[in-house]
Amino acid sequence: MNFINFQPPHSPLQTLKDASVSGKRVLLRVDYNVPHCPETRNITDSARIHASIPTIAYLLDHGAKVIVLSHLGRPKGKIKSHLRLEKVAKELEKILKKPVKKLDDCIGPEVEKKVKSMKRGDILVLENVRFYPEEEANHPEFVKKLARLGDIFVSDSFGTVHREHASTAGISKYLPSYAGLLLEKEMKALSPLLGNPERPFLLVVGGAKIDTKIGILKSFLHKVDAFLIGGGLANTFLAAQGFNIGASLCQKDKIDMAREMMLEANKAGEKIILPTDVVVTDVIASNSKTLDMPIEDVEGALKIVDIGKITARRYRHLIEKSKTVVWNGPMGLYEYAPFQNGTREVASAIRDTKGITIAGGGDTLDALKRFNIPENSITHISTGGGAMLEFLEGKTLPGIEVLKKIM
Ligand code: ADP
Ligand code: MG
Repeated sequence: MNFINFQPPHSPLQTLKDASVSGKRVLLRVDYNVPHCPETRNITDSARIHASIPTIAYLLDHGAKVIVLSHLGRPKGKIKSHLRLEKVAKELEKILKKPVKKLDDCIGPEVEKKVKSMKRGDILVLENVRFYPEEEANHPEFVKKLARLGDIFVSDSFGTVHREHASTAGISKYLPSYAGLLLEKEMKALSPLLGNPERPFLLVVGGAKIDTKIGILKSFLHKVDAFLIGGGLANTFLAAQGFNIGASLCQKDKIDMAREMMLEANKAGEKIILPTDVVVTDVIASNSKTLDMPIEDVEGALKIVDIGKITARRYRHLIEKSKTVVWNGPMGLYEYAPFQNGTREVASAIRDTKGITIAGGGDTLDALKRFNIPENSITHISTGGGAMLEFLEGKTLPGIEVLKKIM
């Protein structure tokens, strides 16, 4: 099967083409959870904003009033001034070359008044929906307050379709709902991998914490030939193997889970490949001094911040030999120059691989950009991280379920 020319069967979703948007207030959920510089808090990669433009342009061209909903970061239900959507709205304004209004809230009478005064072709950005704990709780009253702002709902936030939140799945209970162009595009590009991907099939996973990824890893146990593990995630696996990981990020309560998964993987004949050498430091900063050492030598106040050189070379070799590679999550704290090597090696190995390559996740996309990996050297760059993996797992995702056509 030729991946590039693969045409999936007719989409069972309600899409923009099924919607009449002219003169309507369109509540548009996008994924503007963009990576920031930890020091200046400036947006470091606006790929997710760019990815939303086709849908926004379509809506504006068709005379809609566009009301943008998004989250940013993990404010945990509280107002965090550094997670306001001001910079995001400014960036959107720059890309669209048209005024974009930004409100300080996402619900309430003030917001309703502003929305009421919108004209066709106007666009405004509401405040971070996750400032309300009711967003992640999918609280019915909050859902209703959001739904009141629109006539129809368009979901274009592929990165959050695996979440059953108010703004990702809840609103569809009250408003006619449609998939946006990005959501459609992502599903078309990823669907061919749901069948039998060409082997060897590798899943390369990094990132900060194991708890957000272990469920997904488990569900790939019988699908992949090997897992290449890096990032903070690797630390918990290494600890489960009995290594001293010093002062590295580790989720101690997940060590047993990691051990169980390794046993299961062994039985399934799949390999969980872990770093054999690591980059360590005692302070995390842009001018940190680092050492590359075998994992056996880590101790005390040392923190593992990247995979080591030998591991990176081994990962490159395995990636280049495979026919299908899916990558999510950086191999180290790639935001800091001294800890970038592992992520850079993986990114360039994926660029150089002839097989099918899929990369996704906010930070993963940011890393691809930093290391100047051309977009056309990767089969599909997905705006979703967790969502991409859950989609590839074949799971039903709440944000997609609500868009299905009633047959
Ligand atoms: P994505 O956004 O691509 O899905 P994640 O959000 O899962 O990726 O992970 C990215 C984060 O993981 C980055 O902020 C990076 O600094 C962090 N990270 C990677 N390796 C480590 C490590 N060894 N220790 C702590 N954090 C790490
Ligand atoms: Mg991330």
